[in-house]
Amino acid sequence: MQSFSNKIKRYSRQTLIDWIGLSGQRRLEEKRVLIIGCGALGSTVANNLVRAGVGHIKIVDRDYLELENLQRQMLFDEEDVKLLKPKAIAAREKLQKINSQVCVQAEICDVNRRNIEELLDGIELAIDGTDNLETRFLINDACFKHKIPWIYGACVASYGMTMSFFPKGGPCFQCIISSLPPPGTLPTCDTVEILNAVPQIVGAIQANEAIKILLKAENICKDLIYFDLSTNEFVKTKIERRKDCPLCEGGVFEYLEGKFLSSAVALCGRNAVQISPERELAVPIEMMAEKLRKIGEVSYAGYLLKFKKEEYELVIFPDGRVMVKGTEDISLAKSLYAKYVGH
Ligand SMILES: [Zn+2]
Repeated sequence: MQSFSNKIKRYSRQTLIDWIGLSGQRRLEEKRVLIIGCGALGSTVANNLVRAGVGHIKIVDRDYLELENLQRQMLFDEEDVKLLKPKAIAAREKLQKINSQVCVQAEICDVNRRNIEELLDGIELAIDGTDNLETRFLINDACFKHKIPWIYGACVASYGMTMSFFPKGGPCFQCIISSLPPPGTLPTCDTVEILNAVPQIVGAIQANEAIKILLKAENICKDLIYFDLSTNEFVKTKIERRKDCPLCEGGVFEYLEGKFLSSAVALCGRNAVQISPERELAVPIEMMAEKLRKIGEVSYAGYLLKFKKEEYELVIFPDGRVMVKGTEDISLAKSLYAKYVGH
């Protein structure tokens, strides 16, 4: 066991901040944060919180690493890409090397209405590192239901945006964006250009606000922060609670109740469909690899299974989720899934 003074030494520049101090640093050690999505935003947030000494970080991400992620996802490297590592695993490995005094937990799964409340169990603050509105509405519902604050973050091209939401009184995320637009109508990081500085800044602000919220500091920002790096303009806007917000006014958790969710979604701009089955894989992934090797090209390095057949590629996750690449046609993807993975 390290003595307290030894443990705290690495934070000496941070404990000089008046609203942190030694007592704040001690309290950070006890805090539990959930980071949902570990791409550019999530990895920036996780990096900062781990270095700042937040004691327990749970990272949940559904994806694995690809070469084009390295431009902006600062925790990862070419070796991770070569090994087809899930982002959550690669992040945990790197973060534990950065700070072995904190506990980093990795969950490889798609956050959905069936698992989000369990993922939030014991969590004091949730941070959005996702790239889609559907998951954000779900985070909003689950966090408001369980009275957990959460911090939204988004970036596209040279623009970034962030805001913290507090279940006591709102406003909530639905007060800003009233409902889910049809798929494909909003740009995401997969379809449009993105400067790597943008998620760095958004993630840094999210992590900094996270520390303030965890320590109940007086200088917590409750406004929407927006910036554009093409002009270097930063704007703060006060958001009011919307009078017709179904959550704040009606107390209804539409997304958590599954009103808008689907089990197969086309991932816009990626020429891929993600299928999330109701149940986990019935056979171990190694056995699945053996079976598929007989009929197509298989690569498996212990994490995810990639199966190539003609112009399609199936990426199979241990939780049963499958990414069908080479099509955006949901029914075709479902039939490929049924054919090769089974029910
Ligand atoms: Zn609201």
